[in-house]
Amino acid sequence: MNRANRYGVRSLEKEFPTEEICLSFLFDAQHGRQCSCGGTYKLRTGRKQFQCSKCRFAVSPTAGSIFHKSDTPLTLWFKAILIFSSAKSGISAKELERQLEVTYKTAWRMLMLIRKALSQGDDKLRGIVEMDTAYFGGVYKAGKNNERLWNSLARKTIVMGAVERGGQFRAKVVPNAGGKQHTDFLQENVEKDSFLMSDASRSLMSAGRLYDHYTVDHSKREYVRGPVHVNNVETFWSHVKRSVKGTHKAISKKYSQEYLNGFVFHYNNRHSDRERFGLLLGRLLQSAR
Ligand SMILES: [Zn+2]
Repeated sequence: MNRANRYGVRSLEKEFPTEEICLSFLFDAQHGRQCSCGGTYKLRTGRKQFQCSKCRFAVSPTAGSIFHKSDTPLTLWFKAILIFSSAKSGISAKELERQLEVTYKTAWRMLMLIRKALSQGDDKLRGIVEMDTAYFGGVYKAGKNNERLWNSLARKTIVMGAVERGGQFRAKVVPNAGGKQHTDFLQENVEKDSFLMSDASRSLMSAGRLYDHYTVDHSKREYVRGPVHVNNVETFWSHVKRSVKGTHKAISKKYSQEYLNGFVFHYNNRHSDRERFGLLLGRLLQSAR
């Protein structure tokens, strides 16, 4: 990333030093200053409201969003959003607590609300698409001869992922890695005229028939055959695994989709800090409406 794309806490504090400036930013992102009656909207002092100078009509730029009910100042929300959107390996509530100098409870709540706003896009991937399934967590060992394999798998979180080469990532926590799950995941996320690259696992074979399907056989230690590979998905998996280990230690199964959405958000918006911040701010403004 070059310098021009860098946007850190210092830049943020310079751009958004006060509550009023944050509010004005949110207002201008949604409305014009000009009222249809010919008057001009101005911030009412001490309120989260803008009022027309002529007809007195009032608009709140945070209405219906999580910012409205929150006692946490916008300056702090903006900072939390920036910190989250810059933390490529994720951030724990403990770390956010330290950086924002708020209570653990506040930090945890802010993080949960941010993660909730990060649903993945629903436009389908196309072109060359890699697909792969990964197993996360669960220290339970499968045993020397896999005699405890099913127990071990039951404790793991199964995640399906697909990435368009040079494009977006989609990832979903699934209940099992059977054929139907594969078919559903692919139909939901990948356009029919795509080239599909995957491992030669049996549960993918029938799902793959919907596509121009190319496989590498991992069981025979074949990982790359010319353009046929799933390296981009695997790089993403190992990044998530390393990050979870380093940042979060363990993630409860209940929240795993939300954590995953955070990593997908970073991947899909990996080119500019400032853009990622703006995008996430916009999502939060919309999320609770
Ligand atoms: Zn007016």
